[in-house]
Amino acid sequence: MKTISLEQELNPWEAQAARFDFAAEKLNLDVGIGKILRQPTREIIIHIPVAMDDGHIEVFTGFRVQHSIARGPAKGGVRYAPDVSLDEVRALASWMTWKCAVVNIPFGGAKGGVICDPSKLSHGELERITRRYTAELIEWFGPERDVPAPDLGTNEQTMAWMMDTYSVHMGYSTPSIVTGKPVGIGGSAGRREATGRGVSYLVNRAMDSIGLDANKATAVVQGFGNVGSIAAFSMAKHGVKIIAVSDAMGGIFNARGLDLWKLEQFANQNRTVAGFPEGEAITNDQLLATPCDILVPAALERQITEANAANIQCRILAEAANGPTTPKADEILDRRPDIFVIPDILCNAGGVIVSYFEWVQDLQSFFWGETEVVDKLFRILEGAFTQTLNLSRKQKISMRLAALSLGVSRVREAKQIRGLFP
Ligand code: GLU
Repeated sequence: MKTISLEQELNPWEAQAARFDFAAEKLNLDVGIGKILRQPTREIIIHIPVAMDDGHIEVFTGFRVQHSIARGPAKGGVRYAPDVSLDEVRALASWMTWKCAVVNIPFGGAKGGVICDPSKLSHGELERITRRYTAELIEWFGPERDVPAPDLGTNEQTMAWMMDTYSVHMGYSTPSIVTGKPVGIGGSAGRREATGRGVSYLVNRAMDSIGLDANKATAVVQGFGNVGSIAAFSMAKHGVKIIAVSDAMGGIFNARGLDLWKLEQFANQNRTVAGFPEGEAITNDQLLATPCDILVPAALERQITEANAANIQCRILAEAANGPTTPKADEILDRRPDIFVIPDILCNAGGVIVSYFEWVQDLQSFFWGETEVVDKLFRILEGAFTQTLNLSRKQKISMRLAALSLGVSRVREAKQIRGLFP
């Protein structure tokens, strides 16, 4: 069993496995069940030939990992990125299992990826990659088998192509094959905003828990994509002052608070927040160390590391990204009770919760209004937050370990009740 030590450099899969082992030990997990839950159920690697716009053929490598199907169909996004790897997809797939279980929705966990740089590909090339990726995996996908969704580098359009490819193969329209698709073809009201809204809801709950007044609080947000921007707007609506925001190109700081509307307009025009005139330029490293009440990493994995964890100066760390904190950084945060951590598998679960609603609406061909979606989303988050906080207080364990323990114990229960085949 791997212990987390400050000397080790762990890749994302090893990092999640180390956390799992730690939770398994705390839970007194049966060794046999632990062996099952530690490994993904299925890992598929494909090499997909695609005709590029200039006529030459390129071969892209794609992955789909189904970590668990014990509690329902495998569920999780598809990531298009130049550095995506099988180990990363594996880690993200298992995070999806624990995420769905901690918020108690009837899905397993999965993740997919294609090694490519979407910023360098044309619309047509992206469409051909997506359709071929879907076609190669067609027998593994299905509303009852595995339901993809957007992740980094993919969006509603990607999901529309996946849905169309699957539907053409089946011979009938199958909206429930993917979630996060456009509303016009069976997407859910409020899906696009769901992750950011969920983050903001949980930040409010964390503020209540530590007695912080939203109107006196400041927040720093790393990432101004779909999740970071919605979380920023939503926190601002509740009175929080957003003093710094960044993206891959750099960041911007304004102690008096950033005008998010103007910033959004600037980011739309310039494709970055860097260079926004109403504030001082800062680097991503400076942004993470900026004194604030709420720090929201909403970008990539491994942003809070052994090197900078001691420098972060916030009261609440709201992990909107998947895996923004390394296990080494975790050890440091564990020794900092001044910071209330909302762990990723809880903090960003709003997205997959509304994906669940989308799947349910598609299966029933009966659609809900946005108010109903948001109300149901908050109810689920409320229950999961309260259970995690209670467990963390009762067992005197971190919020991260409490969330993971809740998730793992639900999957264990399903495995134990179902038994082993044959
Ligand atoms: N990619 C998102 C996540 O990591 C959404 C997954 C989904 O909706 O299935 O949670």
